Amino acid sequence: TPLIELVDLAAAYGQVQALKPTSLTVAEGEFVTVLGPNGAGKSTMLRAAMRLTPASGRVRFRGRDITRLSTHGRAREGIILVQEGRGLFGQMSVRENLILGAYTIAAGESVEARLEEVFRLFPRLKERFGQTASSLSGGEQQMLAIGRALMAKPKLLMLDEPSLGLAPRVAAEILDTLGTLNRDGLGILLVEQKAPQALRLAKRVYVLSLGGIVAELAASEVGSHH
Ligand code: ADP
Ligand code: ADP
Repeated sequence: TPLIELVDLAAAYGQVQALKPTSLTVAEGEFVTVLGPNGAGKSTMLRAAMRLTPASGRVRFRGRDITRLSTHGRAREGIILVQEGRGLFGQMSVRENLILGAYTIAAGESVEARLEEVFRLFPRLKERFGQTASSLSGGEQQMLAIGRALMAKPKLLMLDEPSLGLAPRVAAEILDTLGTLNRDGLGILLVEQKAPQALRLAKRVYVLSLGGIVAELAASEVGSHH
Protein backbone atom coordinates (compact mmCIF):
# COMPACT_ATOMS: atom_id res chain seq x y z
CA THR A 1 0.00 0.00 0.00
CA PRO A 2 1.46 3.41 -0.95
CA LEU A 3 1.89 6.03 1.73
CA ILE A 4 -0.06 8.60 -0.30
CA GLU A 5 -1.88 8.39 -3.61
CA LEU A 6 -3.13 11.45 -5.44
CA VAL A 7 -5.72 10.28 -7.95
CA ASP A 8 -6.78 12.70 -10.71
CA LEU A 9 -6.26 15.62 -8.37
CA ALA A 10 -7.20 18.86 -10.15
CA ALA A 11 -7.64 22.47 -9.09
CA ALA A 12 -8.59 25.77 -10.69
CA TYR A 13 -8.55 29.42 -9.70
CA GLY A 14 -11.56 30.82 -11.55
CA GLN A 15 -10.86 30.15 -15.24
CA VAL A 16 -7.22 29.20 -14.61
CA GLN A 17 -6.82 25.41 -14.59
CA ALA A 18 -3.72 25.48 -12.38
CA LEU A 19 -3.59 21.69 -11.97
CA LYS A 20 -4.96 19.28 -14.58
CA PRO A 21 -6.04 15.84 -13.33
CA THR A 22 -2.81 14.59 -11.83
CA SER A 23 -1.98 11.25 -10.25
CA LEU A 24 1.11 10.35 -8.29
CA THR A 25 2.16 8.11 -5.44
CA VAL A 26 4.75 8.14 -2.71
CA ALA A 27 5.55 4.74 -1.24
CA GLU A 28 6.29 4.19 2.46
CA GLY A 29 9.75 5.56 3.16
CA GLU A 30 10.17 6.92 -0.37
CA PHE A 31 11.72 10.27 -1.40
CA VAL A 32 9.91 11.69 -4.43
CA THR A 33 10.36 15.07 -6.06
CA VAL A 34 8.30 17.07 -8.50
CA LEU A 35 10.40 19.26 -10.78
CA GLY A 36 8.80 22.08 -12.69
CA PRO A 37 9.23 25.73 -13.61
CA ASN A 38 7.57 28.63 -11.85
CA GLY A 39 3.80 28.52 -12.48
CA ALA A 40 3.72 24.82 -13.36
CA GLY A 41 1.25 24.07 -10.56
CA LYS A 42 3.57 22.62 -7.91
CA SER A 43 2.25 24.68 -5.01
CA THR A 44 -1.32 24.11 -6.15
CA MET A 45 -0.74 20.36 -6.13
CA LEU A 46 0.63 20.36 -2.58
CA ARG A 47 -2.08 22.73 -1.37
CA ALA A 48 -4.76 20.54 -3.00
CA ALA A 49 -3.25 17.44 -1.36
CA MET A 50 -3.54 19.27 1.99
CA ARG A 51 -7.03 20.60 1.12
CA LEU A 52 -5.78 24.16 1.52
CA THR A 53 -7.33 24.85 -1.89
CA PRO A 54 -10.53 23.32 -3.35
CA ALA A 55 -9.80 20.37 -5.61
CA SER A 56 -11.46 17.51 -7.45
CA GLY A 57 -10.13 13.96 -7.52
CA ARG A 58 -9.21 11.69 -4.64
CA VAL A 59 -6.49 11.39 -2.02
CA ARG A 60 -5.69 8.11 -0.30
CA PHE A 61 -3.35 7.77 2.65
CA ARG A 62 -2.12 4.30 3.58
CA GLY A 63 -4.99 2.88 1.56
CA ARG A 64 -7.68 4.94 3.26
CA ASP A 65 -9.70 7.48 1.28
CA ILE A 66 -9.12 10.82 3.00
CA THR A 67 -10.67 13.00 0.28
CA ARG A 68 -13.29 14.32 2.67
CA LEU A 69 -10.86 14.92 5.52
CA SER A 70 -10.15 18.56 6.45
CA THR A 71 -6.70 20.12 6.40
CA HIS A 72 -6.41 19.67 10.12
CA GLY A 73 -7.64 16.07 9.88
CA ARG A 74 -4.98 15.33 7.29
CA ALA A 75 -2.33 16.90 9.51
CA ARG A 76 -3.49 14.71 12.37
CA GLU A 77 -3.08 11.65 10.13
CA GLY A 78 0.56 12.70 9.70
CA ILE A 79 0.57 14.68 6.45
CA ILE A 80 2.44 17.93 7.01
CA LEU A 81 3.24 20.64 4.49
CA VAL A 82 6.11 23.11 4.77
CA GLN A 83 4.71 25.95 2.68
CA GLU A 84 6.59 28.44 0.59
CA GLY A 85 7.14 31.62 2.56
CA ARG A 86 7.43 29.40 5.63
CA GLY A 87 4.55 30.87 7.65
CA LEU A 88 6.61 31.49 10.76
CA PHE A 89 5.56 33.73 13.62
CA GLY A 90 8.20 36.42 13.17
CA GLN A 91 7.98 38.05 16.58
CA MET A 92 8.01 34.75 18.47
CA SER A 93 11.15 32.88 19.47
CA VAL A 94 12.55 29.83 17.74
CA ARG A 95 11.47 27.71 20.70
CA GLU A 96 7.91 29.10 20.66
CA ASN A 97 7.59 28.58 16.91
CA LEU A 98 8.67 24.97 17.36
CA ILE A 99 6.28 24.32 20.21
CA LEU A 100 3.39 25.69 18.12
CA GLY A 101 4.12 22.92 15.60
CA ALA A 102 3.49 20.19 18.15
CA TYR A 103 -0.30 20.33 17.92
CA THR A 104 -0.57 16.59 17.29
CA ILE A 105 1.03 15.80 20.63
CA ALA A 106 -0.81 13.44 22.96
CA ALA A 107 -1.51 14.31 26.57
CA GLY A 108 1.40 13.20 28.74
CA GLU A 109 3.85 13.15 25.83
CA SER A 110 6.92 15.34 26.20
CA VAL A 111 7.31 18.42 24.00
CA GLU A 112 10.90 18.70 25.24
CA ALA A 113 11.80 15.31 23.77
CA ARG A 114 10.54 16.46 20.38
CA LEU A 115 12.46 19.73 20.73
CA GLU A 116 15.66 17.81 21.43
CA GLU A 117 15.14 15.71 18.29
CA VAL A 118 14.77 18.85 16.19
CA PHE A 119 17.83 20.45 17.79
CA ARG A 120 19.84 17.30 17.07
CA LEU A 121 18.95 17.60 13.36
CA PHE A 122 19.41 21.38 13.25
CA PRO A 123 22.01 22.35 15.88
CA ARG A 124 21.89 25.95 14.66
CA LEU A 125 18.32 26.25 15.91
CA LYS A 126 19.46 25.27 19.37
CA GLU A 127 22.02 28.08 19.38
CA ARG A 128 19.25 30.50 18.37
CA PHE A 129 16.39 29.11 20.44
CA GLY A 130 15.62 32.37 22.28
CA GLN A 131 15.85 34.64 19.24
CA THR A 132 12.85 35.77 17.23
CA ALA A 133 12.15 33.97 13.96
CA SER A 134 12.42 37.23 12.01
CA SER A 135 15.99 37.78 13.24
CA LEU A 136 17.17 34.51 11.64
CA SER A 137 18.86 34.19 8.25
CA GLY A 138 16.83 32.77 5.35
CA GLY A 139 18.44 29.37 5.74
CA GLU A 140 17.79 29.29 9.47
CA GLN A 141 14.17 30.27 8.89
CA GLN A 142 13.78 27.36 6.48
CA MET A 143 15.35 25.05 9.08
CA LEU A 144 12.88 26.41 11.61
CA ALA A 145 9.94 25.84 9.26
CA ILE A 146 11.04 22.23 8.73
CA GLY A 147 11.75 21.81 12.44
CA ARG A 148 8.28 23.06 13.25
CA ALA A 149 6.76 20.58 10.79
CA LEU A 150 8.76 17.77 12.43
CA MET A 151 7.32 18.71 15.83
CA ALA A 152 4.03 17.24 14.54
CA LYS A 153 5.78 13.89 13.91
CA PRO A 154 4.77 13.61 10.26
CA LYS A 155 4.52 10.33 8.37
CA LEU A 156 4.66 12.23 5.09
CA LEU A 157 6.52 15.53 4.86
CA MET A 158 5.68 17.69 1.85
CA LEU A 159 7.92 20.67 1.10
CA ASP A 160 7.30 23.59 -1.25
CA GLU A 161 10.65 24.77 -2.65
CA PRO A 162 12.61 24.81 0.61
CA SER A 163 15.76 25.86 -1.26
CA LEU A 164 14.17 28.97 -2.80
CA GLY A 165 16.34 32.04 -2.31
CA LEU A 166 19.05 30.19 -0.38
CA ALA A 167 22.75 29.95 -1.20
CA PRO A 168 23.49 26.57 -2.84
CA ARG A 169 25.58 25.43 0.12
CA VAL A 170 22.78 26.18 2.59
CA ALA A 171 20.20 24.56 0.31
CA ALA A 172 22.40 21.45 0.09
CA GLU A 173 22.72 21.31 3.88
CA ILE A 174 18.94 21.43 4.26
CA LEU A 175 18.35 18.83 1.55
CA ASP A 176 20.91 16.52 3.15
CA THR A 177 19.03 16.75 6.44
CA LEU A 178 15.90 15.70 4.53
CA GLY A 179 17.95 12.76 3.28
CA THR A 180 18.79 11.81 6.87
CA LEU A 181 15.10 11.96 7.81
CA ASN A 182 14.21 9.84 4.80
CA ARG A 183 16.82 7.19 5.73
CA ASP A 184 15.10 7.02 9.11
CA GLY A 185 11.88 6.12 7.28
CA LEU A 186 10.09 9.42 6.68
CA GLY A 187 8.23 9.66 3.35
CA ILE A 188 9.06 12.88 1.51
CA LEU A 189 7.36 14.71 -1.36
CA LEU A 190 9.50 17.66 -2.39
CA VAL A 191 8.75 20.19 -5.13
CA GLU A 192 11.55 22.24 -6.65
CA GLN A 193 12.08 24.31 -9.77
CA LYS A 194 15.84 23.73 -9.94
CA ALA A 195 17.06 20.37 -11.17
CA PRO A 196 20.17 20.06 -8.93
CA GLN A 197 17.96 20.37 -5.84
CA ALA A 198 15.25 18.11 -7.23
CA LEU A 199 17.66 15.40 -8.29
CA ARG A 200 20.00 15.44 -5.29
CA LEU A 201 18.19 12.82 -3.22
CA ALA A 202 15.08 11.59 -4.99
CA LYS A 203 14.80 8.07 -6.32
CA ARG A 204 11.83 9.08 -8.41
CA VAL A 205 11.19 12.43 -10.11
CA TYR A 206 7.98 13.63 -11.71
CA VAL A 207 8.26 16.50 -14.18
CA LEU A 208 5.38 18.96 -14.01
CA SER A 209 4.72 21.47 -16.78
CA LEU A 210 1.71 23.71 -17.45
CA GLY A 211 -0.36 22.02 -14.77
CA GLY A 212 0.27 18.41 -15.75
CA ILE A 213 2.84 15.65 -15.23
CA VAL A 214 4.75 15.23 -18.49
CA ALA A 215 7.34 12.65 -17.41
CA GLU A 216 8.34 10.32 -14.62
CA LEU A 217 12.01 9.47 -14.22
CA ALA A 218 14.00 7.10 -12.06
CA ALA A 219 17.12 8.62 -10.49
CA SER A 220 19.34 6.26 -12.50
CA GLU A 221 18.08 7.89 -15.71
CA VAL A 222 18.95 11.37 -14.54
CA GLY A 223 22.34 10.53 -13.02
CA SER A 224 22.09 10.58 -9.25
CA HIS A 225 25.10 11.47 -7.16
CA HIS A 226 24.73 9.18 -4.17
P1 ADP B 1 4.24 26.72 -8.99
O1 ADP B 1 4.13 26.35 -7.54
O2 ADP B 1 4.67 25.57 -9.84
O3 ADP B 1 5.03 27.95 -9.23
P2 ADP B 1 1.45 27.48 -8.72
O4 ADP B 1 0.73 26.27 -8.26
O5 ADP B 1 1.80 28.52 -7.72
O6 ADP B 1 2.76 27.03 -9.53
O7 ADP B 1 0.62 28.20 -9.86
C1 ADP B 1 0.01 27.47 -10.94
C2 ADP B 1 -0.82 28.45 -11.77
O8 ADP B 1 -1.91 28.94 -11.00
C3 ADP B 1 -0.08 29.67 -12.27
O9 ADP B 1 -0.57 29.98 -13.54
C4 ADP B 1 -0.45 30.72 -11.25
O10 ADP B 1 -0.38 32.01 -11.83
C5 ADP B 1 -1.87 30.34 -10.91
N1 ADP B 1 -2.24 30.72 -9.53
C6 ADP B 1 -1.61 30.33 -8.40
N2 ADP B 1 -2.22 30.81 -7.31
C7 ADP B 1 -3.28 31.54 -7.76
C8 ADP B 1 -4.32 32.29 -7.14
N3 ADP B 1 -4.40 32.38 -5.81
N4 ADP B 1 -5.22 32.90 -7.94
C9 ADP B 1 -5.15 32.80 -9.27
N5 ADP B 1 -4.22 32.09 -9.92
C10 ADP B 1 -3.29 31.47 -9.19
P1 ADP C 1 -7.55 28.27 11.11
O1 ADP C 1 -8.70 28.06 10.17
O2 ADP C 1 -7.59 27.46 12.34
O3 ADP C 1 -7.22 29.72 11.36
P2 ADP C 1 -5.95 27.13 8.99
O4 ADP C 1 -7.14 27.10 8.12
O5 ADP C 1 -4.70 27.77 8.49
O6 ADP C 1 -6.24 27.75 10.42
O7 ADP C 1 -5.58 25.65 9.37
C1 ADP C 1 -6.41 24.85 10.11
C2 ADP C 1 -5.57 23.71 10.67
O8 ADP C 1 -4.96 23.04 9.57
C3 ADP C 1 -4.42 24.17 11.53
O9 ADP C 1 -4.76 24.18 12.89
C4 ADP C 1 -3.39 23.10 11.29
O10 ADP C 1 -3.61 22.01 12.12
C5 ADP C 1 -3.66 22.67 9.90
N1 ADP C 1 -2.74 23.26 8.92
C6 ADP C 1 -2.80 24.48 8.34
N2 ADP C 1 -1.81 24.64 7.47
C7 ADP C 1 -1.12 23.51 7.48
C8 ADP C 1 0.01 23.04 6.80
N3 ADP C 1 0.66 23.78 5.94
N4 ADP C 1 0.44 21.79 7.07
C9 ADP C 1 -0.20 21.02 7.93
N5 ADP C 1 -1.28 21.41 8.61
C10 ADP C 1 -1.73 22.62 8.39
